[in-house]
Amino acid sequence: MSMERSAGDPAGRAPPWTGGCRCGAVRLEATAAPVMAVACHCKGCRRMTGGAYSLSLMLPEAGFRLTAGETVRAGLGAALEGGLALGSGENPDLAAALDHRACPVCKSWMFTRIAMLPDMVNLRAAMLDRDAWVTPFVETCRAEAQPGIVTGARHAFDGFPDAAAWPGLMIAYAREGARP
Ligand SMILES: [Zn+2]
Ligand SMILES: [Zn+2]
Repeated sequence: MSMERSAGDPAGRAPPWTGGCRCGAVRLEATAAPVMAVACHCKGCRRMTGGAYSLSLMLPEAGFRLTAGETVRAGLGAALEGGLALGSGENPDLAAALDHRACPVCKSWMFTRIAMLPDMVNLRAAMLDRDAWVTPFVETCRAEAQPGIVTGARHAFDGFPDAAAWPGLMIAYAREGARP
């Protein structure tokens, strides 16, 4: 007899983790533990969340699925598809490589697939029904952060870490990171 979900697990650590957009038209489920939790301070993330930073969980694609609804493209990729010219300083190749997904009804920015990381999906942690266990482990684009914002992440980078740094960060996250 297990009462883990209801009584002994108030933060919702035990899988599966359910979630959805602001209006509930798009619902999702994750069954595989995240491999990283990232707070990104870049201006693009701040614009898309409306918050001081985005908080994302990197999840194995094999353990992630939508259980209701469909998403639409968001962010600069949507602008490209709509034939809009990107602002100066934006990289069209990078914009095309980032497949930001949003609820078509309430427009919540829910998750992102990155062409360079085909086996992963970056889920905005706020979409989880119960996210009290989530804390950022790495923060990126610290140079663009709003003044006074402290995330508690253990590893901070002015920009994005080199690709070679991620495996070590993931090992550290598996060992030390707040995760289910
Ligand atoms: Zn919605
Ligand atoms: Zn960002």
